[in-house]
Amino acid sequence: MNDKKRILIVGGVAGGASAAARARRLSEEAEIILFERTRHISFANCGLPYHIGEIIPEKDCLLVQTPAAMKNRFNIDVRTRTEVIGIDRENKMLTARDLETNEEYTESYDYLVLSPGAAPIVPPITGADLPGVFTLRNIEDMDAIKVRVDKHKPSRAVVIGAGYIGLEMAEALRTRNVDVSIVELLPQVFAPVDPEIASLLHDNLKLHCVDLRLNTSAKAIKETKTGLSVQLSDGESIDCSLVIMAIGVRPETKLADDASLEIGELKGISVDASMQTSDPFVYAVGDAVEVTDFVTQNPALIPLAGPANRQGRIAADNIFDRPSTYRHTQGTAICKVFDLAVGITGQSEKALKSTDTKYEKIYVHPAHHAGYYPGAAQMTLKLIFDPDKGTILGAQAIGPKGIDKRIDVMAVAIRAGLTVHDLTHLELSYAPPFGSAKDPVNYAGFVASNVINGDMPVCHTEDVINTNGDQILLDVRTPAEFRAGTIPNAINIPLDELRSRLDELDTNKEILILCQVGLRGYLATRILKQNNFKCKNLTGGYKTYKAFTADHTNKEPSKMTSNIQSDAGICGMIANGKPQVAYTIDATCIQCPGPIMRLKESLDTINDGQAIAIFSKDPGFAADIAGWCDSTGNTFVGIETENNCHKATVIKGSPKQTDDAAQIESRRRN
Ligand code: FAD
Repeated sequence: MNDKKRILIVGGVAGGASAAARARRLSEEAEIILFERTRHISFANCGLPYHIGEIIPEKDCLLVQTPAAMKNRFNIDVRTRTEVIGIDRENKMLTARDLETNEEYTESYDYLVLSPGAAPIVPPITGADLPGVFTLRNIEDMDAIKVRVDKHKPSRAVVIGAGYIGLEMAEALRTRNVDVSIVELLPQVFAPVDPEIASLLHDNLKLHCVDLRLNTSAKAIKETKTGLSVQLSDGESIDCSLVIMAIGVRPETKLADDASLEIGELKGISVDASMQTSDPFVYAVGDAVEVTDFVTQNPALIPLAGPANRQGRIAADNIFDRPSTYRHTQGTAICKVFDLAVGITGQSEKALKSTDTKYEKIYVHPAHHAGYYPGAAQMTLKLIFDPDKGTILGAQAIGPKGIDKRIDVMAVAIRAGLTVHDLTHLELSYAPPFGSAKDPVNYAGFVASNVINGDMPVCHTEDVINTNGDQILLDVRTPAEFRAGTIPNAINIPLDELRSRLDELDTNKEILILCQVGLRGYLATRILKQNNFKCKNLTGGYKTYKAFTADHTNKEPSKMTSNIQSDAGICGMIANGKPQVAYTIDATCIQCPGPIMRLKESLDTINDGQAIAIFSKDPGFAADIAGWCDSTGNTFVGIETENNCHKATVIKGSPKQTDDAAQIESRRRN
């Protein structure tokens, strides 16, 4: 076999560097040249926001390989600051330009691998090129943003676009004590997930003092005497001194297009399963290529590091006659947003809605490990599946801990073609600090299986907000939980009284059952079904209903926390005039609505004007407490969050009743 191949690679990061290293491992004789436009190769793009946020203090940690190391270890000729500007396919030559000297030269190839990635999209708005406006793709961009933060110490930044780069940048900037506004055209952040999952992110962003502007676009950026002003589609403007553009990326296809390589319908480079383009001597990998979605088998653009790395390896394998195929992309992704992680694998519900795929969905809210072991954190796990065969179509999860594990198990399940019934049989690692004997994945499988086999028919938020005269909405939680908040028109019969109060229910009507997370609703469903009632359980319970119905287009809460934050330096707490706390409640071991109920009981025992501090780890509590105070005539002072634990301070009584409260209320309204 002749391994003396001359392989030229365009792009020296995820896909390109992987192809180069794999090619060398397969052949000591090959000549390999790697061209990279920037000064760096093989850097960790995914780590860039964390260096800006100083979570990764050393920039060198992001440089996985240097040109010198790549030469020493892999004998690869790395040419940084060199842009490939043309491909002559007929003569198997490319033209490169040395960006330091502007010198142009040609190189011949036996095989060419294109891994040029995807470039940030910059909207065509006035001011997008002003100093202080940045995109984030590479080390140079990162350095420029970091210098801006270090030297100019911006008091406010505007992040335009709330995909994972926008969200990670928002967190990084908040970590650097910069106030942040996020401007997002869609009604939700993190577009890959469904709105009710993103809704929990919205709460969390507001909790961390991020001013969230959904359904809003940036129309122009102007220079002002003090910095920049971002003009918004709703007529408002935000003064700031730093703007991050993160509205998405577009495959870099110019080189391929100019060389008349086939471009796909979504405008990525077309490749077959071996990563070969329409030219058998040219391979393409990474963000620049169009892939096939694993679940729908439709064309897709899914810019992620894992696929780029694997595709680089596959291209090299095929160049060296080791048949290897890329088995499609399923879009497994995870993002950290302050103290929450959000992850997805497979299809989202909104993506499936645009196809004619039949699907059903369930929600569960289990703890990430045994509830009795300290530190258990509640998650939301959504499972989407084929209602007949039970094949898993997608999964999403959000919570403070354990999200990566569940999303990864679901990713493997989808890849292996498992059904929801198979999930009930998975034997997953368990000891109290790590999981539960019934892992959230098993649990989701049980619930979905119950739906398919008819033991627990489910209904959804859209059903319970549109009940008709032939339906009864039955809340089976305790009266105290019911009083703390329920769905309009629901009646209350607690689960433990249901058997003795069946005669209060009309057998001719369909009963839509709700509880807090869906478990008591399931038990009620079993009782009612066996007593010949027609019934359905609201999957995910009141907690999911609240995520669906929360209105995050209202800017007021984030403005409020922002104002208080500037006064005190701690999100949501006031430094001056901090109220005297009568006592403290530790509600860290209980989940919503438990903390609110404990708070209510305690407020009943103190005088107007006295304050209570309550600790909770439930993100739902943190999101709800301000609204609950408003609706019950108490005064929400603020909330501090540290290590996933929220400390809320509440004064009994309305703001009019105390000086402290009046002061707080006036700050909130201003
Ligand atoms: P890239 O890594 O972008 O590399 C392409 C390189 O080609 C670029 O350096 C470019 O300069 C060079 N190039 C382009 N054209 C030419 C030319 N004509 N001549 C010479 N050189 C050229 N993915 C995840 O899965 N998880 C994450 O957490 C994650 N976080 C990210 C955070 C940030 C800030 C960014 C920017 C990306 C993140 N990604 C993440 C995406 C991931 O980095 C990409 O999917 C992956 O790097 C794609 O690899 P690639 O080789 O296709 O392109």
